[in-house]
Amino acid sequence: MDRRLGHEWDEWNGRPLPRGGDFSAVPGVFFRFAALTVVVATAAVALLLYLVGPRLVTLWSPLTRVLWIALAVLAGASALYLGLVASSYYGGRNLLPERLLERGPYLQLMNFTSLLARAFGKRDYVEHAAIDVYNSLAERRGRKVGKGELLVLIPRCLSKQALDGVLEIAGRYEVPVFVATRGQLARRVIRERRPRAVVAVACERDMMTGLRDVAGKLPVLGLTMQLPNGPCRDAAIDLEQMERWVQGLVADAKR
Ligand code: SF4
Repeated sequence: MDRRLGHEWDEWNGRPLPRGGDFSAVPGVFFRFAALTVVVATAAVALLLYLVGPRLVTLWSPLTRVLWIALAVLAGASALYLGLVASSYYGGRNLLPERLLERGPYLQLMNFTSLLARAFGKRDYVEHAAIDVYNSLAERRGRKVGKGELLVLIPRCLSKQALDGVLEIAGRYEVPVFVATRGQLARRVIRERRPRAVVAVACERDMMTGLRDVAGKLPVLGLTMQLPNGPCRDAAIDLEQMERWVQGLVADAKR
């Protein structure tokens, strides 16, 4: 079989992916799982504190009380933060600067939420919704860069039609395209080319890792794919979406 799996898909059983490898999901899916993540994490720490609390008192008598207060503050702050993210997304206006939103703690929230979603077998759908929310928040910043300052990163698994489409768009807007076969290579290309913005294409699983590693340092828009023939081969993408992003980012783009 001419298929080399990315390590994110190591556990794939060889059967067709559900819904033809299209993991589209409404943003509410992410927000519901993110809220559940905050509740589960708080409950887990509370249980731990309940169990070890009596021992901690012997070390320093107010310690347990201090930790309970800290947990309550942290849970309240997490709930408030999630509320601000949801209000920003649904309200159509980012209520926090990017360092505190899509290029800040939101990236961790996405990753913790993904961990919980795996336990429910909903990983790809939740990640898709999380990435959609991320893109909407990032796109609203209205960032513009020069042609040579934008980098398009694509994976090795695109179908011929998708690859031709990407190359055509990149050629028309005169932006460089790199095939990043592994996350490590993508990071090296970014280090060497020093772009001021990146449009990256990947499956949800790979995109989550990429955003976690890069989005904090560099503005990124992440285009997810459909995998009609299973992971890591013949991936399809929304070329119109890609063109909208490239056009929007490149200030003096030719039409
Ligand atoms: S981006 Fe493509 S090659 Fe990379 S892990 Fe995802 S499906 Fe596989």
